[in-house]
Amino acid sequence: MTLLAPKRTVADLKELRNLTSDENGAQRIAFTEKWLLARGWFRDKLKDLPVETHTDVAGNSWTTLHGKSERALLIGGHIDSVPNGGWLDGCLNLLAGLEILRRVNSQYGGQPPFTVRLVDWADEEGARFGKSLFGSSACSGTLNMDEARVLRDKDGIELPQALKKIGVDFEKVKESGTELKNAAAYIELHIEQGPVLLDLGLPLGAVLGTFGVERHAITFHGQAAHSGSTPMNRRKDAFLAAAKMGAEIYPIAARNRGVCTIGSCSTKPGIVTSVVEECRITLDQRQLDSSALASMLREAKEASERFGSEGNLKVSWDRLWQIEPVLFNRDLIGLCEEAITETYGKCHRLPSGPLHDAAEVARAGVPTVMMFVQSLHGISHNKIEDTKEEHLELCVEAFDKLAEKALRWIK
Ligand SMILES: [Zn+2]
Repeated sequence: MTLLAPKRTVADLKELRNLTSDENGAQRIAFTEKWLLARGWFRDKLKDLPVETHTDVAGNSWTTLHGKSERALLIGGHIDSVPNGGWLDGCLNLLAGLEILRRVNSQYGGQPPFTVRLVDWADEEGARFGKSLFGSSACSGTLNMDEARVLRDKDGIELPQALKKIGVDFEKVKESGTELKNAAAYIELHIEQGPVLLDLGLPLGAVLGTFGVERHAITFHGQAAHSGSTPMNRRKDAFLAAAKMGAEIYPIAARNRGVCTIGSCSTKPGIVTSVVEECRITLDQRQLDSSALASMLREAKEASERFGSEGNLKVSWDRLWQIEPVLFNRDLIGLCEEAITETYGKCHRLPSGPLHDAAEVARAGVPTVMMFVQSLHGISHNKIEDTKEEHLELCVEAFDKLAEKALRWIK
């Protein structure tokens, strides 16, 4: 008798989609009615399992199958989505975890050697308040309380107010950290959200960690001057330097095997008849290796100074945000690769560009790894997000193998 039924996970996913999506995609935005509906639906799915469930002080929902030891394997996901989101982002992890709980429960007659806990993190997406990874960063202790306390949604409602409505006291959310007390390992499955596995023609990948990010605003300061009367050789054109940066980030990214994005550009005075006096661009740089990330930043700074002096401009930099790369646990990456190879015969190791709850758990010191399944269009946060059904079944199978290996790895 096979205990694991990956087809059941696909059926569960479709059921959740029917319940919480409309013609524009998934609508399970955290702290809303639809989100509570999705959580209620999930709790119903647990009815036949001998599990304990509770919501922690940060709004994360925990499902525990107690084992002989309290040392626990954690499996994470998030049932919340962005507005008009995809049907797999976040809930695939959770529902694959549910299938693993069913399998572990039958295989070990209700009592596995170690405890297995499934966590549905609160507000992973940050769609409403602009702060991603809320529940997991509260739990890991990295949440910046002063920043989070004053976040407002588009209707002006503050985060603490919205939390109060679902029975969460904002000032206490970090006490959820006690949930990690017996955590021995954390695993998370996720749709890739990018095209790497798709381009390689592979269904599954072992994730090495999440990119570190350097995010800066760069401002070039020149001089406004009449567009008709100022000869080309007399201009201090702030836009020209910014434009040169636009081209320069491509070789910088290539040399350091990272990614760089200039996502916004604004000019002053910003009128058609004036040379640009001030041009502000934003630069987002990401790499898994911290020294490569540092050299991408250094090279961008050097380039901006070079273009500045070529154009007789001053340059200033402001750091907008920064996070260190988070590397996953080596042993667990190895086990993840084994699980994938046993399931499909081939595995690819890759970093994650987006941040995930797993990064927060790893930052809290819990050995962590993630598995990615191919994204059909390489696109996420969109209703067209999809994965082939056969790949969904494969990922449940491989993720379950990883769970079993991780259980044996815990000592
Ligand atoms: Zn997600």
